[in-house]
Amino acid sequence: MNKSLIFAYNKTKAFCQFCNRTRNPHPEYDEPIVTTKLEINKNEIEVCINCYYDLQIVAKNTGNTLMAVIKEKHNMQRLFAKLSSK
Ligand SMILES: [Zn+2]
Repeated sequence: MNKSLIFAYNKTKAFCQFCNRTRNPHPEYDEPIVTTKLEINKNEIEVCINCYYDLQIVAKNTGNTLMAVIKEKHNMQRLFAKLSSK
């Protein structure tokens, strides 16, 4: 598990690798999304707070660890990226 989970607010180049958002989707908040960095398979990925908590719910509902769920999503994403680049 990541020891220090720090969510960065108002980061100008914030980008979520899971939902591809850069801005807060809420219409009342015109600001960059809140993200954190996670280390997965020796890669650092940036994930927004919404995806992070969504995956936490998935982990809880499926009885997996959060890191296992994030790793699987990350692997799937890489797989799809590979498939669509062909
Ligand atoms: Zn996201």
